[in-house]
Amino acid sequence: MRKPIIAGNWKMYKKLSEASQFVEALKNKVPSAEKVDAVICAPSIFLTSLVEAAKGTDLAIGAQNMHFEVEGAYTGEVSPSQLSDIDVQYVVLGHSERREYFNETDEAVNKKAIAAFENGLTPIICCGETLEEREAGQTVAKVSSQITAAIKGLTPEQVATSVIAYEPIWAIGTGKTATAADANETCGEIRSAIAQAVNEEVAQAVRIQYGGSVKPANVVELLSMEQIDGALVGGASLDAESYLQLLEAG
Ligand code: PGA
Repeated sequence: MRKPIIAGNWKMYKKLSEASQFVEALKNKVPSAEKVDAVICAPSIFLTSLVEAAKGTDLAIGAQNMHFEVEGAYTGEVSPSQLSDIDVQYVVLGHSERREYFNETDEAVNKKAIAAFENGLTPIICCGETLEEREAGQTVAKVSSQITAAIKGLTPEQVATSVIAYEPIWAIGTGKTATAADANETCGEIRSAIAQAVNEEVAQAVRIQYGGSVKPANVVELLSMEQIDGALVGGASLDAESYLQLLEAG
């Protein structure tokens, strides 16, 4: 049995006061971590405050990106050891927005995944196809190659504890969701790619989230699918009530 993981991705939204209010509103309401892993991936300047605010709750805090070096002359970057030092637990890697606007490559995602584990962070590794690729029948080839590249050099145990997020790019922030059946099928294909790259046991253990316009109205159906173990949620994670509803579905 794979435990569901519901991660909010706040992107570049919220002021500090709004971020703090969000965590305050969640206090005593986050379902037990035995049932569902609840994560909020926030802008890096809020991470210290949010980790403090979430102490004693079952809410984990994640970053949305990081550098792969632990330190160095990389102006403007945040390192894996800086994140783990302030008790951040997760980091989103290879989100399609980072790949598109910040030239994040498969190779960089791979280095970051390795660095995440070396520094005690759990990576949420994103993959997904464009509409053009989907229409050309390239979905499986695209996501399989992204994930195979991302996990290269990780130990089987590390792959098994990684979180994968399948996010069709055409479904992100558009209100268009992949049908639950389509999302399930692609998540199954990702699992097969992991079985081939590592082994079947690891493929069965790794958790695969779906992302792309997930909201309270569609989360139950998506999570009911056999291959879908959670959700990576942008827009609908910004509101505390709506995020709680997503957690309840987990
Ligand atoms: P969305 O974003 O839920 O707003 O579509 C998902 C994501 O980019 O992770």
